[in-house]
Order: sequence, then C-alpha cells, then structure tokens
Amino acid sequence: MAPPDQFPTRRGSMEYVCLGCGGRFDTTELHYTCPECSGVFLLEDTEFDALRDTPGKAWRELFDARAMTKNPALRGIFRFYELMAPVMEERDIVYLGEGQTPIIESSPALSAKLGGQRLAFKNDGQNPSASFKDRGMACAFSFLGHLMRARKMDELLAVCASTGDTSAAAALYAAYVGSGITSVVILPEGKVTPQQLAQPLGSGATVLEVPGVFDDCMKVVEHLADNYDVALLNSKNAWRILGQESYAFETAQWFDWDLSGKCIFVPIGNAGNITAIMSGLLKMYELGILTGLPRVFGVQSHHADPVYRYYRQEPPERIYQPVNVSASVAQAAMIGDPVSFPRVAHFADKLEKAAGPGAFQVVQVEEQAIIEGMLLANRHGHISCTQGGECLAGLLAAREQGLIDPDELAVLDATAHMLKFIGFQEMYFNDSFPPEYGIQPKAELVNRPEPVIDAAELQRLDRAAYARQAAENVVAKLGLKAKG
Ligand SMILES: *Cc1c(COP(=O)(O)O)cnc(C)c1O
Ligand SMILES: [Zn+2]
Repeated sequence: MAPPDQFPTRRGSMEYVCLGCGGRFDTTELHYTCPECSGVFLLEDTEFDALRDTPGKAWRELFDARAMTKNPALRGIFRFYELMAPVMEERDIVYLGEGQTPIIESSPALSAKLGGQRLAFKNDGQNPSASFKDRGMACAFSFLGHLMRARKMDELLAVCASTGDTSAAAALYAAYVGSGITSVVILPEGKVTPQQLAQPLGSGATVLEVPGVFDDCMKVVEHLADNYDVALLNSKNAWRILGQESYAFETAQWFDWDLSGKCIFVPIGNAGNITAIMSGLLKMYELGILTGLPRVFGVQSHHADPVYRYYRQEPPERIYQPVNVSASVAQAAMIGDPVSFPRVAHFADKLEKAAGPGAFQVVQVEEQAIIEGMLLANRHGHISCTQGGECLAGLLAAREQGLIDPDELAVLDATAHMLKFIGFQEMYFNDSFPPEYGIQPKAELVNRPEPVIDAAELQRLDRAAYARQAAENVVAKLGLKAKG
C-alpha cells in the first residue's frame, strides 16, 4: 500500500452507467445525461472489485494515515481517492480546503431540550464557499482539468443553474482554476439570498437571472447542455456526486469507522447529496471498511416534498410526481422535480437490502419547525443554516413518529453556514415573513438589539457624560451590583 503522503499510483477505470437503460459510456466524452434515453448517470469504477483484495482494516489504516498528509492533493476529499475517482492525476486535483469538516456533538443543554436525544451537526458550512457543494465541485473541476488535458482543449464554458450554493461553489473553483474555464451561472431572480448572489459576482462569474424558480433555471441549462458544447455543473453531473460521497467517508472516519446504530439526517432538494451519501456508505460496506450501516433519513419541507410523497406510498405501487413548490426558508432545497430522484430510488433500495427495511426513510416537516430548528441549534453553539434546521426538525418528526430512540446518535447535515441564510433569521426576529411561509415567530426565540440611550442625548451632553449615561443605563438594565 502506498505511503500516506504519496499520490496513489493505481488507477481505476470510470464509466458512465445510465440508470434508465443500463447503457455504458466512455468518460472521455463530456456526457451529462444518457444520449440514448436521457436517463441520469452514475459513475462506476469498472475495477472496483480489485479493491476487495485489500482488507477493510488496511483501507481504514491508509485513510487514517493520510489524515496527517502534507500533500494538498490528498488533504481534502481525495483522502479517499481510491473510493471516489481513481482516474485523476495528482496535477489535476484542485484543492481549496474543502472537506474534513468537523462533527460537533450537541451540548447537554440542547440534548436535554430535545428529550435527551443524542445529536451532532456536521458543519459543512465550514467548506470554502460555505456549503457542501464544494465537495462535488472540487471533484468536477479536477475532472474537467483532467479531461481538458487529455483532449488538448484550451477553453471550456461551465454552466450551472442554482438555488444559490452551486453557483457560489462553481464560480469559486472556476475563478481559482482561471485559464480556460469560464463560469456562467443561472439563478432564479430574487430566490437566492443576497450573500449567495454576492458570491459568484465576487468570483467574477457571469450571473444570469431568470424570473421564476430553480426548476425553470434547470430547464434553461438543460437546453444549453443538449444543444451546445458546454460543461454542466449541476448535480446531474455524476462527477459531483462522486465528490459528495466524501461526506459519508468523513463521517465514518470521524466515528472511527463505526456507524452502526447511528442515524444520518440529510435535507433533500435536487437529491444529489443524499444520493452521494448513500452511495458512499454502500461502497465502504462492500469493501468491509464498515461492518454495519447507519440509517439514513431524508428531510423535506411540506412546501417542496416530492420525494417524501413518493416514499409515503406503499411499494410496489409508488408513483413519482413532481410538485409545484411554494416559499420555503429551506430555500436551497426548494425543488419540485429533483433531477437525482432515480438515483435516490436506486440507492435507497440497495441500502434497505443491505441494512434492512427502514434503513432509508423520508420525513416531512413544516416551515415553522425548520426555522425554529435552525434558531434552536444556533442558540446552543451550532452554526446551522435553514437546511440544517430542517434536519433538526426532521429528527424531531422522526422522534414523534417513534422512528428513532433518544440514545441513537443522530448526525445532522448542516449543509451551509448560517450566515448565508441569515435573512430568514431577520424575518423571524422582525416578524416580517410574507404570509406564504406561514411562519409565526415565538417570543422566546426572538432576539433583537436593544437601545440603551437616545441619540438625542448627544445634543444635551458632552461625549464623556453621554458615555457615562449610557453605562448607567446598561447597569440599570442588567441590574448590576457595584463591586464591594
Ligand atoms: C444544494 C443544497 C441543498 C440540497 O441538496 P441536494 O443535493 O440538491 O439535495 C441543501 N442545503 C444546501 C445549503 C444546499 O446548498
Ligand atoms: Zn440511457
């Protein structure tokens, strides 16, 4: 086995496999969906079986040893190179500090508030563009570099539609790679947060706005991909799924490769993330890196819940139907027709076969519970976005339905940093949610700045006396007692 600092020398061989018709395609072409049936792809290492020759213990030891590497190409998501995309060369790897995000167990106070439930947040907002999308983007951009070199291309236009974070990540990686790759992002006008709009603008990407919702933007991008020579960076792009599998590998490593009895909660939007996490878990299980599997819970808002609606039906009569979305604070997951739905069905099936019925479930939560999940988490030292709040709401829903016990550790995906979605906190604190959200603030969760002195006092008092008066007002407000 390779020394931990050395870039691996063994290469696999990746092929696109269509989930619709089973067709296989070469990865030297820039495929996005199946040219035969328009189905979505998975990427498969056709030499995966050779990895079984190495015992699970040896893999665990290798990945643990790599945790100390100084080699940037192996510091981030490619610590797990062999499990992900073992076709790239060291010089292809784009590393901007993504991955290896911490898992923070909740304080006893938060756990007590939730009836003694054990829980932890994986802070994926600590990625460079402040969301998990960097994982997939690091892999997709590394592959684009690889492909451009192999095909001697010197220019490439990379396009994505986005609920905000995909475009922030794509623009960041494109800006870093520079020469050759130009990034264009298509956003639903007014449906991304000001922070998420500022990110691609700051990275110098071309930002195009379409009035409507994400699903409209997605159709624009698909038209471009079908008819023009552009690289698509949405999660239909199977390379992104591979990169996002690193979330599962890291979670396993954090818990010393023991995930049995744990429950992983993931918000579902376009369903790429939950797909990747299930795929990653199954790979580790197949190689004996894990000897048991966790349960996986998808969470959706009642305002955007097509996957929940599908799994609510009894097999085998389940019918998938897109829904029309309405306003959601979990805006990054506000998607009515998730492109990765066939992938979810594929891996959910496999997970249930390996880990038993109930290993994959989807719970539905209300907008009020989502925003309050975020506020409650952050009041206890977490840095969760609204989608992380959605996970907390999902955990509570699962508890209420008796699907999970308090002593099973729930690992919640805080998919982005709280600051990206801080406008929703503002709306809660100011009671300014438009009616379509259906959110009524509760006094005990509201927090607002309190004035201590009237600015007009400055006319009456000199600066020193003004500060003195302000200090006395603070003393009165806080009821402080003078030093004895
Ligand atoms: C993209 C995104 C999601 C949804 O993930 P999918 O892979 O589309 O299901 C959730 N939270 C945040 C912060 C996101 O950026
Ligand atoms: Zn096909």
